[in-house]
Amino acid sequence: MIKVLEERKNQIYTKGKDTFDFACDKHSVAGSVSQRACVFCGSRVVLYPIADALHIVHGPVGCAAYTWDIRGSLSSGPELHRLSFSTDLRENDIVFGGEKKLYSILNELIDKYKPKGVFVYATCIIGIIGDDIDAVCRKLEKEKNIPVLSVHSEGFKGTKKDGYRAACDALLKLIGTGSTDNISRFSINILGEFNLAGEAWMIKEYYRKIGIEVVSVMTGDGRIEDIKKAHGASLNVVQCSGSMTGLAKSMKEKYGIPYIRVSYFGIEDMSKALYDVADHFSDNPEILKKAKDLVTNELSSLLPVLQKYRKTLSGKKAAIYVGGAFKAFSLIRALKIVGIDVCVAGSQTGTKDDYALLKDMCDEGTVILDDSNPLELSKYVLEKNIDLFIGGVKERPLAYKLGIGFCDHNHERKISLAGYEGMLNFIREVHASIMSPVWKFAPRNSASRGNTSSDAIQTSKCAGADCSPEACSSCGKF
Ligand code: SF4
Repeated sequence: MIKVLEERKNQIYTKGKDTFDFACDKHSVAGSVSQRACVFCGSRVVLYPIADALHIVHGPVGCAAYTWDIRGSLSSGPELHRLSFSTDLRENDIVFGGEKKLYSILNELIDKYKPKGVFVYATCIIGIIGDDIDAVCRKLEKEKNIPVLSVHSEGFKGTKKDGYRAACDALLKLIGTGSTDNISRFSINILGEFNLAGEAWMIKEYYRKIGIEVVSVMTGDGRIEDIKKAHGASLNVVQCSGSMTGLAKSMKEKYGIPYIRVSYFGIEDMSKALYDVADHFSDNPEILKKAKDLVTNELSSLLPVLQKYRKTLSGKKAAIYVGGAFKAFSLIRALKIVGIDVCVAGSQTGTKDDYALLKDMCDEGTVILDDSNPLELSKYVLEKNIDLFIGGVKERPLAYKLGIGFCDHNHERKISLAGYEGMLNFIREVHASIMSPVWKFAPRNSASRGNTSSDAIQTSKCAGADCSPEACSSCGKF
């Protein structure tokens, strides 16, 4: 029996059982061991993929180690983003201040690596000792003649969402400082796409094929110069709504650029992302025609393959726990195509509107969670007898300890899951994870299926020289 903390009860909802009076968008309950990352980590994940910038973490070395190379974001050129620099603040710096240390380290690093820009991240301790990082950034910006941007991401000052906001504030300082000459009227910025496993390249190619120019991707395979001219685009297309809707709103206010929310996960959402952009430029019917051709072409080869997977996956149960709720919507739609029911769904940073939509999308009995923790996730995964957990790096050990399949849909992964190609990769991975014979030897399944430790011993023989149908019939090889 796993109990839920009293203060957390209004952030958990079971469809068809509870009245929907859902609480979200608030600080984590102390002691609940939230799955959320800190404010600093929120900023770091958003800005990290800007590949020609130098990223320096002003604080103890642990903050930098924690977020070192945190996303699998690929770069088509420089890879400065993959290094993690820290001012490594020690006791003396904390007593006497770390501004001088920050200045001298940056001075040296800028001369050595010649970055196109610098991001200086404030961590918890900077919020406590009060170093004026803005003053250091201003001084270096003048001396080195490159943008040196402070990111006010003091770890304790709010939720991961505040980190997203601090990152967007830094981006907003860059946007508007470059030339917008020669940018097409049919142009977009892609916001909240981080080029994991080259996904941004694939999405850019789709848009290029339908006649749309992509001015900048924020921040996948990002470049300082592209971000500077992002105000020249006609439309902002927001993929990771949790991290970038704030920036899209600010750009609408400041530059009058409208924005739409899209998702590139799953065939329905991917196609809608193309059609919505084509609709925005409806004065050019050629764009819509090209979008239709592209979608038809992709689906004609993909759908028959997905139907094959549906035969074995239909009726399986999944749990989803992701950063932003918008990704959860896409995953639910994508899994429905192969007949998988989502019985547990949650996010770290969803809003009231997100959860209302999630409730409408889910079937009766589905548990919806906001800002959950390992105990709650374990409780509902076990109660619902889940076959597959889809989440991020912090959910992986949880799934394996519970003896169920896991699919990484976060920044650690190495295969693309976006677009049409990504949908096929995703379903292949889902299939391989769920159907692996290893799960029947997990303690909870061994007990329910009457497997004994000798079953496990027999299977271990299969890998050896004695492997034969007579020796063992449980691994599925024979
Ligand atoms: S900023 Fe604070 S909470 Fe975040 S990693 Fe550093 S010490 Fe930890």
